[in-house]
Amino acid sequence: RFRRFELDQGTGVSVSFEFFPPKTDKMEASLWSAVQRLEPLGPSFVSVTYGAGGSTRERTHRTVERMLTETRLAPAAHLTCVGSSRAEVDEIVRAYHDIGVRHIVALRGDPLEGLGAIYRPHPDGYDYASDLVAGIRRISDDFEVSVSAYPERHPESPDWSAEIDNLKRKVDAGATRAITQYFFDNDLFETFMEKVRAAGINIPIVPGILPIVNFETTMVFSAKCGTSIPHWLARRFAGLDQDAETRKLVASAVACEQVLDLVDRGVTDFHFYTMNRADLTFAICHMLGLRPAPLEQQAA
Ligand code: FAD
Repeated sequence: RFRRFELDQGTGVSVSFEFFPPKTDKMEASLWSAVQRLEPLGPSFVSVTYGAGGSTRERTHRTVERMLTETRLAPAAHLTCVGSSRAEVDEIVRAYHDIGVRHIVALRGDPLEGLGAIYRPHPDGYDYASDLVAGIRRISDDFEVSVSAYPERHPESPDWSAEIDNLKRKVDAGATRAITQYFFDNDLFETFMEKVRAAGINIPIVPGILPIVNFETTMVFSAKCGTSIPHWLARRFAGLDQDAETRKLVASAVACEQVLDLVDRGVTDFHFYTMNRADLTFAICHMLGLRPAPLEQQAA
């Protein structure tokens, strides 16, 4: 049964958008133009990432606060354990609570030396994401807490049982939703979901969708974070190095095909890694049946 043909405004598809905190004035301007373009689509939340080792602590906070005060969006702040003591992390959580943020994306983070290096917890810090979730819950019970999930396994997990046990620990600690690492092979996601549900994990698992802005960069990053690049995907981008316009059309087609296939498989929630750009994400949401709502109809 192909559910994609039933998609229309109000069919129950729900989306969220991820942004990263800008470094320069120019990047700041492009972030806010993307936010303005995507806001009328009525995302259930928008999230702002936290730089490796807390390097964007202030910028993440500023971006989240601006979303809270200048838009009608519900911002979620990413937070990691790496490089900080529990007291420091707790202080950040309380500061978010004080300004009215009610959603944290709780992560362990990558080692300070970069992806692939050996992870060593901070001596006074939260060791893993599950510990951070428990810490957040000790501070307040009225946070939504999202965590990560890996349809192709986290690179450091020795096997599937370690992977699923870890997700279960995060749920038992109080996580209310998981957002997946991006993937391109929907069969892998479906197999993963079977494992998750068989383990009795019942929170929403929202697929993370990466519209490919730059295929070369995506290949390099995917090799590090454990996302496989199917042959068919590489073939689709082959020969387009000098043709940015076609690359963008192909990127849009690839991501639309992926989300519509997920819709056919019964998925209703999607999280988009926007890379602070609106164009591809907006087009894919349009294909999902979403239309910009007039300002007065947008959620207060
Ligand atoms: P965890 O869930 O803690 O797991 C990490 C690894 O440790 C797994 O292999 C797990 O099996 C293992 N493990 C867990 N507990 C134990 C234990 N008790 N003993 C032994 N091993 C254990 N990174 C950032 O720096 N900033 C961000 O904003 C950010 N946002 C992200 C958003 C999403 C949706 C995703 C999927 C990833 C994001 N990341 C971000 C990347 C993330 O920080 C890395 O993937 C990191 O390597 C793992 O973080 P985690 O929260 O998944 O870790």
